[in-house]
Amino acid sequence: MGLYVNSMSIEQALLQRSGHQCELCGASDGLSPLAVEPSDGTLDKSIVVCETCKGQIEDPSTMDVNHWRCLNDSMWNQEAPVQVMAYRQLFALIAKGETWAQDSLDMLYLDPEVEKWAKMGLPDEDAEPTYDVNKAVLQAGDSVTLVKDLVVKGANFTAKQGTLVKNISLTSNPKHIEGKVNGSQIVIISEYCKKA
Ligand SMILES: [Zn+2]
Repeated sequence: MGLYVNSMSIEQALLQRSGHQCELCGASDGLSPLAVEPSDGTLDKSIVVCETCKGQIEDPSTMDVNHWRCLNDSMWNQEAPVQVMAYRQLFALIAKGETWAQDSLDMLYLDPEVEKWAKMGLPDEDAEPTYDVNKAVLQAGDSVTLVKDLVVKGANFTAKQGTLVKNISLTSNPKHIEGKVNGSQIVIISEYCKKA
């Protein structure tokens, strides 16, 4: 099996595994490999996805929640990397308030090793919460407004007080969030934000 895989590119092997379909939504156009982190780049740590899925995974702020109804099928895929990506995307949908995603995740049984891998890509449940200026807990996908003018280092602009920042992400530091202002993804001190 090893030799057989090595004789092909990862992309060819993935296309063969998936039957030339996006392993998440089933689309057949614009397919390319995507590493499921932490990945060693092998077939077992990669999936093949269409441009729509890839774009929304790489930039969660563009996530079209209805597109991801496809996970209700693809979460049953036998391949661990597909299960892992489905798990993570369902988790992201839950953070956006999609209750159907919670129902799907509740049904999904993963092998313990696979579940451990899936959770590596998620915010740590034991981590300290991220608070806004009013001590409200912030979560990925929330919208916030800035409570003071912030000089954005390196980007050469000031994010004005009152600016709405949609679809924030959390960081490994509970005092920092990330969000897009003026088209730039910037790190913002969470205490300078108010949940919108
Ligand atoms: Zn797709």
